[in-house]
Amino acid sequence: MSGSSVSFRAQLRSQEALTVWIQSQDARLSVSPEAYVAALLLPAMYAGSDSIVVDKALDQSFLNGVDTIQDIFQTWHPHLQRVHVVGSARERKSRRREGRTASFFTGGVDSFYSLIKHRDTIDALVYVHGFDVALGNTPLRRQVSRMVRAVGAQFEKEVIEIETTLREFSDRHAPWERYHGAALATVGLTLSEEFSHCIIPSSFPYNHLRIWGSHPLIDPLWSTDMVTFIHDGCEASRFEKCKHISGNEAVHRYLRVCWRNPEGAYNCGRCEKCIRTMTFLLAAGALDECSTFSEAPSIKRIKRYEEIQATIRRLSYQYLPALQALSEKPESRPLVRAIESAIQKTSLRAKVHTILRKVRARARRVSSKFLP
Ligand SMILES: [Zn+2]
Repeated sequence: MSGSSVSFRAQLRSQEALTVWIQSQDARLSVSPEAYVAALLLPAMYAGSDSIVVDKALDQSFLNGVDTIQDIFQTWHPHLQRVHVVGSARERKSRRREGRTASFFTGGVDSFYSLIKHRDTIDALVYVHGFDVALGNTPLRRQVSRMVRAVGAQFEKEVIEIETTLREFSDRHAPWERYHGAALATVGLTLSEEFSHCIIPSSFPYNHLRIWGSHPLIDPLWSTDMVTFIHDGCEASRFEKCKHISGNEAVHRYLRVCWRNPEGAYNCGRCEKCIRTMTFLLAAGALDECSTFSEAPSIKRIKRYEEIQATIRRLSYQYLPALQALSEKPESRPLVRAIESAIQKTSLRAKVHTILRKVRARARRVSSKFLP
């Protein structure tokens, strides 16, 4: 397979133009006008641009999808500008009956869950350098690259590594947590000559969906007559996903969840996300097997750091089923107590906040009654 590269000039309003490139040594990338629109749409909405002009014909269903994507984002963020996509619609091609399936893969819980669930239908794993790990972080990129290649070999899947400056462009305009779904769609659209189906592993379950760039309502709307995007895995909670993948040897050797990566650490073992994953793996009886975590979740850190406690509170719905499983193990009870105490702080704080609000409201009423 010969590699290839695509690029486009991006300029929003009066800002400096930037050349965005996407390249791969592993796959043939296609110049897709839909990829250009997917890359630019949200930055243009955030920048207040009126239009995106495309000189090639666009897939009609994609154009319809872009309309709905803008509806959704404007519902979430009414200040965003609606962007007119100026371009003609092309006639729909007949969909290929037997296309291949790619799945985006980072080595995390969601990626492994979708890979194991669809191991019979996935043909290739796609990792994008420049998204979760910066292009300049060469040592960590090498580690991640080795991980994806090893997992691909173990599951007998083709591996496609992509490099791109897309995030360097988007970070100037839109927050990554809102943009990353469009970024994945952009890459998937450049791979549409190679793959007819593209799996995007989900971040949240159906009963706890959030305003998030990759979302079950949005991802399928980036589809064209060449490629269908599938947002996968919302049926399972994070703890259920951990349990589902916990028996797999590749997970034990390569699971990678940390996004802080201090000093290039693969998993730091100290941030909330590492602590949460370790807690779930402990509850699933698999933490000892996982060599990418070198220690048990630190009770001291949970008790000491308000930042960790705040995230535990925000994600308490994820922790609760795991705590139930852990509380049956006497040796894990100190950890359970530390996490429960972080969660309970919520209700205590909420009570204090409510009391203060009532006191202030009463004070305002009294002042308005007695002051001239
Ligand atoms: Zn970490």
